[in-house]
Amino acid sequence: MSTLRFNVVEKAFQAKPVEVPVPAERPAEYFGKYVFNREKMFRYLPANVYARLTDAMDHGAALDRDVADEVAAGMKRWAMELGATHYTHWFQPLTEGTAEKHDAFVEHDGKGGMVEEFSGKLLVQQEPDASSFPNGGIRNTFEARGYSAWDPSSPVFVVGDTLCIPTVFIAYTGESLDYKAPLLKALRAVDKAATDVCHYFDPDVRKVVAYLGWEQEYFLVDEGLYAARPDLLLTGRTLMGHEASKNQQLEDHYFGAIPTRVAAFMKDLEIQALELGIPVKTRHNEVAPNQFELAPIFEECNLAVDHNMLIMSLMRKVARTHGFRVLLHEKPFKGVNGSGKHNNWSLGTDTDILLMAPGKTEEENLRFITFVVNTLMAVYRHNGLLKASIMSATNAHRLGANEAPPAIISSFLGTQLSRVLDHLEDSTPDELLALGGKHGMKLDIPQIPELLIDNTDRNRTSPFAFTGNRFEFRAVGSEANCASAMIALNAAVAEQLTDFKREVDALIEQGEPKVSALLQVIRRCIKACKAIRFDGNGYSEEWKAEAVRRGLDCETSVPVIFDNYLSEDSVRMFETTGVMTRKELEARNEVKWETYTKKIQIEARVLGDLVMNHIVPVATEYQTRLIDNVYKLKSIFPAEKADKLSAENTAIICQIAEHTTYIKEHVDAMIEARKVANRIADEREKAIAYHDTIAPMLEQIRYHIDKLELMVDDQMWTLPKYRELLFIR
Ligand code: ADP
Ligand code: MG
Repeated sequence: MSTLRFNVVEKAFQAKPVEVPVPAERPAEYFGKYVFNREKMFRYLPANVYARLTDAMDHGAALDRDVADEVAAGMKRWAMELGATHYTHWFQPLTEGTAEKHDAFVEHDGKGGMVEEFSGKLLVQQEPDASSFPNGGIRNTFEARGYSAWDPSSPVFVVGDTLCIPTVFIAYTGESLDYKAPLLKALRAVDKAATDVCHYFDPDVRKVVAYLGWEQEYFLVDEGLYAARPDLLLTGRTLMGHEASKNQQLEDHYFGAIPTRVAAFMKDLEIQALELGIPVKTRHNEVAPNQFELAPIFEECNLAVDHNMLIMSLMRKVARTHGFRVLLHEKPFKGVNGSGKHNNWSLGTDTDILLMAPGKTEEENLRFITFVVNTLMAVYRHNGLLKASIMSATNAHRLGANEAPPAIISSFLGTQLSRVLDHLEDSTPDELLALGGKHGMKLDIPQIPELLIDNTDRNRTSPFAFTGNRFEFRAVGSEANCASAMIALNAAVAEQLTDFKREVDALIEQGEPKVSALLQVIRRCIKACKAIRFDGNGYSEEWKAEAVRRGLDCETSVPVIFDNYLSEDSVRMFETTGVMTRKELEARNEVKWETYTKKIQIEARVLGDLVMNHIVPVATEYQTRLIDNVYKLKSIFPAEKADKLSAENTAIICQIAEHTTYIKEHVDAMIEARKVANRIADEREKAIAYHDTIAPMLEQIRYHIDKLELMVDDQMWTLPKYRELLFIR
């Protein structure tokens, strides 16, 4: 009998919720306790230094050394009062996580002792010896060093005993080696382009901010059970496991009562998140058993990305306090829903206008339509790239399965907004525009109710849906850094807004009145990007066929989808917006292909090991028992009767033999296929080989393992089963 499995299952059943220490203060009081926010800057910095720093934060003004020294001194004082002894440059390399290297605040004092030191130089720039982060060859072929540089637009914070300083990570030659540097550039580009377009409507706008509100889905699994599943431990997902007889058919988990152990975890997580200034607001059960969601109030995009990275590591940590492991993988379990990270995105001005929200007047609605249509146009022009921006070896399991957006990017607008766009398309500018009148302008845009779309008009199958005052990019993976999607989206919208303005200005120069010029270009865009609009069922087979006809990107192979980053349209878009150069794009794609290969390679190895160490031995042992039984029947019954009585077992013996033979043969074949693939030098070709030959084998082998799981005596099966992993509270 497999005692380990039964022990961990029993322990998981008996686990009690962990008591959560609740702060004495109200959330509003402890919110941001560990963040060096403006209030603390004001308290810990001299007035002139505070003014210089906030100017740098708001307008990107440069900070000179003297100011940096004073900022560092104030920060250090604040951090040490909270018990910090170390500091780190916290950055986001091209992996899923964040990186940090901790240094103590101590320096030699020159007299044989130590002083606590933290200079502006150390705050502003560091040279972590981070040579083993993925860089796609940039640091091999050029200058080997990379450095991290402070991003003052995201506040520093204290975690445990460490002051964390959000930074960008770049090569000495200037290429970005992380997610933050290009994100900041994309945000700057969309700010500039959108501000220019806003000036058609309001000359007072000085800045446009991109907002992001992410919704993080995740699974929780009991820690003991997790430890007994080497596949979960090493790959983040189960490589085998037959579906439980009950999973999500009854839809009884979604929005259901949160189990007490989980509620304790959530409470703990929320307190710690609020202390770190992450404005968490929503929590609920998700569709699959043991699946949950967490969402904060939306924030400025760069900060929201940092907060998502931070909360993912916080979740991992807090889960362990509660005897759980958090699974951020997009598809930890076959047959139940996977996890995504909806990215709610919008643009807003420094004059407090949400540009993706309809207004009350004709002018406001023309502005609203302008931004919606330009967004659609950007998504249309770069639909393949946007898909590439959310694609990964892990997210590939989720997309295209009947639960998440298909692997085709389209946009859902809902009936009301669709009707408005259709009306604009069908009418001439003269019909739409009756100049003169009391208010100077009379626009025939149908009235748009403020609450545009209620819950009944939602389309859960759409990867890029309009939801009232924002677009919701739903295809993002739960494990991903949101920055990847946000870089592509904001840069694409920046490019489109710039092109839009160029066209409108050209018409105005030819003597066309402004509103009429805007309407003409808007109509042109509505017509041009029609292919991206789809309000139907994204899961259906008809849509796949239809999308091909419309010329949308329908590629499903992950490594080939990455090619979209290097298409001429993408390179031009990234270069003209100043977000990334061709060289950076090429290097980053090398990293993407390499990462893809490694993920599949690890899964193949783990599966091979589990097959040889768990599955085949257990199945063979059970088979031996059955053989033994058949022999014994023969020894006590006459031949004919014995044959009859043992027929069932003989059949199972055969089936086990067939399954184990298949499994062993295919594991061997998989090893051979890996050897062949590993000899390919080109990263793209290698990733394609892994995708085409090795990834499908994982599924084929799994099929036979899952059959064995149903056949073999439950007492002998060593790996915790789905019904145990997914239903334990
Ligand atoms: P739902 O599950 O209905 O999509 P949630 O409340 O779970 O909605 O999450 C919606 C997310 O979108 C939240 O993070 C919310 O703050 C964010 N959000 C709301 N309005 C905007 C907006 N204008 N721009 C960006 N994000 C927004
Ligand atoms: Mg949502």
